[in-house]
Amino acid sequence: MGNRSSRREFLWLTGAGVAGLAGGPSRGTAFAAESDGPPDLIVVNAKVYTIETRFPKAEAFAVKGGRFTALGSSGEVRGLAGKGTQTLDARQMAVVPGFIDCHNHAPGDTLLYEVIVGNPFVVEFVTISSIVEKLRVKAAATPPGMWVDGYFFDDTKVKDNRELNVHDLDQVSKDHPVVVHHRGGHTSYYNSKALEMADVNKSTPNPMGGTFDRDSDGSLNGRVTDRARNVFSRVGKRQTFTPEQTLQRDRDGLAYISKQFVRYGLTSVHHEGGNLFALQQVRANGDLLHRVSYEAAGQVLESMITGGIETGFGDEWIRFGATSEHAADGSFSERTMALSQPYPGIKPPYSGNVTEKQEDLNAWVERVHRAGIQPNCHANGDVAIDMVLTAYERAQKLAPRSDARPKITHCTLINDDLIRRIKALGVVPAAFTSYAYYNTDKFHFYGEELMRRSMAYRSFLDAGIAAAAGSDFSPGPFDPRMGIQGMVTRTGWNGETWGANQRVTVEEALRINTLNGAFNSHEESIKGSIAPGKLADFVVLSDDIFTMAQDKIKDVEIVRTVVGGKTSYQA
Ligand SMILES: [Zn+2]
Repeated sequence: MGNRSSRREFLWLTGAGVAGLAGGPSRGTAFAAESDGPPDLIVVNAKVYTIETRFPKAEAFAVKGGRFTALGSSGEVRGLAGKGTQTLDARQMAVVPGFIDCHNHAPGDTLLYEVIVGNPFVVEFVTISSIVEKLRVKAAATPPGMWVDGYFFDDTKVKDNRELNVHDLDQVSKDHPVVVHHRGGHTSYYNSKALEMADVNKSTPNPMGGTFDRDSDGSLNGRVTDRARNVFSRVGKRQTFTPEQTLQRDRDGLAYISKQFVRYGLTSVHHEGGNLFALQQVRANGDLLHRVSYEAAGQVLESMITGGIETGFGDEWIRFGATSEHAADGSFSERTMALSQPYPGIKPPYSGNVTEKQEDLNAWVERVHRAGIQPNCHANGDVAIDMVLTAYERAQKLAPRSDARPKITHCTLINDDLIRRIKALGVVPAAFTSYAYYNTDKFHFYGEELMRRSMAYRSFLDAGIAAAAGSDFSPGPFDPRMGIQGMVTRTGWNGETWGANQRVTVEEALRINTLNGAFNSHEESIKGSIAPGKLADFVVLSDDIFTMAQDKIKDVEIVRTVVGGKTSYQA
């Protein structure tokens, strides 16, 4: 916007192209931002859902310099066009703001280079023999003693209808340590060789925050949860790469996943760490198609703290957001999250894994918060959410900062007291979106009473909490259409409905997946809705998700994804 941005004004156009969501055409209220010369692009003849309360619907808009500049009727916006303006006739298709995913591990390198034993994107059942076969092929090309890894396993998407176990993985190899990683990221399945190399046996006690799971006769079944997996990182050989090779793989992975994101209409994604150097190179090469809120971990987070880099540093394409998720407990999908009551039907009684002591959590949060960085903790169970809130409340008391928006990733199982504390502290949750469709096959492990308080979008919105979407890919598919369908219907792929009390409207689901996502990273003034002055990130959908059958929303076609006025994907 150059030097004019400081005195940008909104101009009012007249016309009947803008209407309230509920009623018919109301008094015309179109907007335009001041800009020089004709727009670069106009989109006309569309059903534009802006997610702005003042002007929720329009027929058309204009874009210049990567931003929306005007919004109104098709006639009005056509009137702005000049020589060189590109016109996109949406033929009455729906246009919505670009989708924002506030929790994503963006594992493009895994998708490109590793053995994938489940379907990362949609519900698909696989056989245990197919998993064994894929890993055998990998083992045959791997020197003995070196790890053989499989990714994207989902224990409830197996045709055999049973858990993967140590005996299955012994069929892969007796000479290689073999591990299959659950897509949830908190449990893994090992073969005998791996257990032996890590010196884990029948009599090994469970460490804090993890378990070595056993059969009823006490023998190890190969499943290992959360922090108990740490011992395996110290044994066996792993493939090594030169720094150049690593950089190349990271670049390729990021460019690949960026293509996938825009294919699904995501225009902004919060990345859990990742190679920041590679990310900048991908951008410089023109291969970064979506905007990144970079959530730092490890060395990068340390550098931010010691170097004085606060949340918000960066620009519209790559910006430091909150920290990467700091784990306080286990996983929802793998049933290791920390509950205040035992899991229904499990013997001996098990109530999940707390993976951090309160005092360590307090110290970590305080240090990050004092450094001007938005803290972000992973908490699924009510026990862990309570711990994280305790740490956030303490940090705010010690070093008050207005509008800090401490983030809770997942924030899955709530109760009235937790909701009250979340609201009081201005916490921004990023809860699971696609699970309500994708993972209904796991909800019986919790039961309806807990599901009525899980992924509690209705409770959040009713309390005035700006809940956002967090797919948690790899664990959850990141398709926002699947997310919206699940949030609206609470009905899964298997036809089961759980926690219907937490349903939200299509408009609310859209807001959660757009504007609330922008709010989550303090960027609501520049993106998240279709409004003059904001970044021109939008998606053209083949059908109108507001009026169509709700159980078909996930099948709507993403016709076009536009980021900063530039088409980054076209069907
Ligand atoms: Zn995660």
